[in-house]
Amino acid sequence: MAKVRLENVYKVYEGGVRAVNNFNLDIPDKEFVVFVGPSGCGKSTTLRMIAGLEDITQGKLYIDDEVVNDVDSKNRDIAMVFQNYALYPHMTVYQNMSFGLKLRHTPKAEIDKRVKAAAEILEISDLLTRKPKALSGGQRQRVALGRAIVREPKVFLLDEPLSNLDAKLRVQMRSEITKLHEKLKTTFIYVTHDQTEAMTMGTRIVVMKDGFIQQVDSPIALFEEPANLFVATFLGSPQMNILNARLEKTNEGMKAVLVDAEEQPIIEFSDIRRKQLVNETYFEKEVKLGIRPESIKIDPKGSVDATIDVVEQLGDETILYCKIAGIKQNIIVKTPFQGRVKSNTNVRLSFDMDEIHLFDNETTNSILGMRSFNDFPVKLNKNTIKLGDVTVEIPEQLKKTLLPSSYGKNVIMSSEVNAISLEPIENSIKLPIEPLFNVQKTDYTAVYFKIKGLEQYFVLKQRIGDESKPNNIYLPIKEMRIYDENREILNSHEVIYPNVGEGNIIKKNGKLFVKAFGSLLEVEAKEEYLALNGRVEVRINPEGAVVLFNKKLSKQNPNKNVNTPKSNLITFEAYDEFKSKGKNFIYGAVKGAKNYFTFYVDNDFSVYAMDKFSIHIPPEIIELKQL
Ligand code: ADP
Repeated sequence: MAKVRLENVYKVYEGGVRAVNNFNLDIPDKEFVVFVGPSGCGKSTTLRMIAGLEDITQGKLYIDDEVVNDVDSKNRDIAMVFQNYALYPHMTVYQNMSFGLKLRHTPKAEIDKRVKAAAEILEISDLLTRKPKALSGGQRQRVALGRAIVREPKVFLLDEPLSNLDAKLRVQMRSEITKLHEKLKTTFIYVTHDQTEAMTMGTRIVVMKDGFIQQVDSPIALFEEPANLFVATFLGSPQMNILNARLEKTNEGMKAVLVDAEEQPIIEFSDIRRKQLVNETYFEKEVKLGIRPESIKIDPKGSVDATIDVVEQLGDETILYCKIAGIKQNIIVKTPFQGRVKSNTNVRLSFDMDEIHLFDNETTNSILGMRSFNDFPVKLNKNTIKLGDVTVEIPEQLKKTLLPSSYGKNVIMSSEVNAISLEPIENSIKLPIEPLFNVQKTDYTAVYFKIKGLEQYFVLKQRIGDESKPNNIYLPIKEMRIYDENREILNSHEVIYPNVGEGNIIKKNGKLFVKAFGSLLEVEAKEEYLALNGRVEVRINPEGAVVLFNKKLSKQNPNKNVNTPKSNLITFEAYDEFKSKGKNFIYGAVKGAKNYFTFYVDNDFSVYAMDKFSIHIPPEIIELKQL
């Protein structure tokens, strides 16, 4: 029994493949978590890092409350079951299951007790004397599980354990593993690329793509409110229909026009749906409209004309592939069994307005209903955050991660919805809110609320059964992101180290230099600086420095970096980075400085591809002070 926590975990393989990026997850004791995503998205790598079979490039892994990055795999008290479970062919089932314990010098009586108990749980007690070749695929898989169970690990890791089994057996083993989890009452982490496995087995699912977590939630919450287009189309079968639409304001509500369709059909939304829109800048803009096949009905009063192209009768239900004139792809409709529906008939479709999803064309994030983040428009003053009519103090922990230039700006304060607390929590921002209406979801109540003085509505999740009306929320600093108007991130996920050291003033031909960090740096010849003598404190602004590519990267990017001045260079040895759209926070050591430095540079390279390099420091970002 154990909880597992991953904090800003990265994996970069030799050669620079970034398999896992900024992975953050809290797995409570006894949970069944599934990592799901297409092949190559980083699932196995993450699991192998937890197991200790793969080094963690950056970040922290906790088992219970202990950091185990450097704890040997065999001392982590974790058992792993693989896709290729390779039983020893010359040993009996009993011997296969007991072998690991024997190697650990477990007393014989204890081994016997554990093997028999595990065999009972797995219902293989009568097979203990058989050899693997006399077992079916499913029985072998059970022995492999048994081998893990007898070790009584704190955490079970399962890497696609069912992918070698045939379809029927897989379905059976799926429910057996779920039952096993209930019996063992241990933390399970399960990797699969199969969305059905994920949906049916996990109590919580982590959806991954290209090394990044896309969304973490219960299966039903992911299905009802996918955070982005990828999650929307990855989960659910048949897949969610995605159509291009233009969003328009109506009197109280709004409507979506299906722009690709010849007849430009219109889907109307009520005022309460309009209030669930992230913000009203989407009016008159094109968005992606998503609707699941089960949320479309054949309905003579429907607003969308279509022709049934293909009919698939599945017995209890019918899948219809429909054509809408002008739209290339089929619209898939899933209805309860409909008798004899014929292809080539003209029908009208109605889209269930409450089940429609809208996604931003560029970011692909959900913009209607539940979302991953609330984006609060705020003004960052020197010591306060102003949202509408509400002013709150900037907590010290947030200050430590903010770029100096963020102050005085209008920015977006983006806060994770799942992390909002209704109870006071440490290191958070307390915000007074006005709850307005609730939408009941299967796993939670979505509470839409306002902030005094702000137009748009925000959302939080309230536990089912909690009937209280929240008047304050607590936003954890850790999950907070501050963006400028170009969606460039302004706060680092680590403390921004002050770039400070010491140097000697040198005056030459009316110019001013400082000898610091193993280099001669030209400084602005300000009057106050010209008055300085001898030893000075040298402080470098994290913004404005330019990274000089090394030979290899220059060759790969012949057009970039040609204009980087070759003077005022210091050498930087990076240990980590934090990238956003166009910018990269880089952290590392500088010669002659005691503490680490942080720079905020262009995101056109990775410190994992180039870890020691020169940085050009323009004179205007150097500040001096007499020591
Ligand atoms: P998944 O389990 O989701 O299929 P993996 O975690 O196996 O994905 O792989 C994630 C990425 O890391 C892929 O791009 C893969 O090619 C790469 N990768 C995996 N193992 C190695 C390795 N030993 N060396 C270099 N790259 C690797």
